[in-house]
Amino acid sequence: MSDTSPDALSAADSPLPEALRLTAPAALVDIGANLTHESFESDLPAVLARAEAANVRALIVTGADPEGAERACALSQRHPNLWATAGVHPHHAADWNHALERSMRDLHAQPRVVAVGECGLDFNRNFSSPADQERAFEAQLALAAESGLPLFLHERDAGRRMLEMLHEWRHRLSDAVIHCFTGERDTLYGYLDLDLHIGQTGWLSDERRGHHLREFIAEVPAERLMVETDCPYLLPRNLPAKIKGRRHEPALLPWIVRELARWRGEDEEALARATTQTASRFFRLQETFEP
Ligand SMILES: [Zn+2]
Repeated sequence: MSDTSPDALSAADSPLPEALRLTAPAALVDIGANLTHESFESDLPAVLARAEAANVRALIVTGADPEGAERACALSQRHPNLWATAGVHPHHAADWNHALERSMRDLHAQPRVVAVGECGLDFNRNFSSPADQERAFEAQLALAAESGLPLFLHERDAGRRMLEMLHEWRHRLSDAVIHCFTGERDTLYGYLDLDLHIGQTGWLSDERRGHHLREFIAEVPAERLMVETDCPYLLPRNLPAKIKGRRHEPALLPWIVRELARWRGEDEEALARATTQTASRFFRLQETFEP
């Protein structure tokens, strides 16, 4: 989940316009889809059908609060190409308590739950105090160490503290991805030095705030890079057609791969294959998912 826009995102009445019916040149994994968001309530089957038509073959549904994580887990049990994460986003960190920790631990034992998170630090808005955020994050680092699951991490304007905490915990963690990485080059290298993975959304298509990423995104090794929509948030700003309701959806992931390939100076199909291979290994989808 990213910063929630104050305007309501809603389901468009019609399917995607012709110009946005894209098909990826190789099967893709959307590692961050907030499909429990209310905007998907009325038409999720159609959204999933469009994702499949676009060659988005596996989706990791983000669970970012107690109720959302329960629902993400339930969704993943009903659809063969959905998996889920379970965690508490820094915005909700003030809610962290023992009962919540127990319910997260139960979710992490479910076979379709493939990561701990979304969790981390967000000092951009401080919806929860930094002290509460660190407490909830530390508890979830411990849950990841205990379960052996990889982490799905959120960080905004908190790179320095995030690096300090991860440095302390790294030897006890299997793997971690910084989802929707939007930071500066030195923070990126800090994460890569800790052997972490990097998730990329349509952020770098944003001419207002994504410019800096274009300069160094090519420096992320292919086997450390994964792609995500973070839908319904972060609709890419340079799509070739407008969408009524401005809701982002997994069928648009091929556009993000195209943009990423362009700024990395890389072949689109090779990038699609590499990110899928990385995601499949990272989330341990191999047994049930064949791209
Ligand atoms: Zn996020």
